[in-house]
Amino acid sequence: MRFSLLFLLISVLSLNSACSQKHDVAAASARPARGAAGPTYPKPQPVTGKPDEFAVRHTDAEWKKLLTPDQYYILREQGTERPFTGKYHDNHAAGTYYCAADHNLLFTSDTKFESGTGWPSFFAPAAATSVKVASDNSFGMSRDEIVCAKCGGHLGHVFDDGPQPTGQRFCMDGNALVFEKKK
Ligand SMILES: [Zn+2]
Repeated sequence: MRFSLLFLLISVLSLNSACSQKHDVAAASARPARGAAGPTYPKPQPVTGKPDEFAVRHTDAEWKKLLTPDQYYILREQGTERPFTGKYHDNHAAGTYYCAADHNLLFTSDTKFESGTGWPSFFAPAAATSVKVASDNSFGMSRDEIVCAKCGGHLGHVFDDGPQPTGQRFCMDGNALVFEKKK
């Protein structure tokens, strides 16, 4: 009698362990394969319009002293440089692109691509703190304007005809950027 009880106990224990093992295998196979998803890229947040939204703030007179005329025209007057006339559209060096007004990290050469437009083009910003997006309805067009997330300066526009993996084309004015070559 005592032996049969012991046998029953062992049977129940081994059954339990077999079940839990089987369960683990099933759970593991349901999980996606490790490394299947590629790198994720930051998506720009929308401009809120709050007065203290941008950390770097100056009066127009101060900006005029701080920036070159080309930089002021783009960053503070929402100007657009003529294609193939600005900086960096033909720059293929490895490095980092910063805002010309405040040195905020904007883009890296890893996401730069040849768009053929005559403006430096990227498929993603460098960080979540790099740029913000705003609606631009000037010149009878509905476009998404890209501004520096630190100073609110105009940098260019973003379009949905970019290459994978994001499908976005950040079309930037080179004169609003400062490039630093990778050391
Ligand atoms: Zn900036």
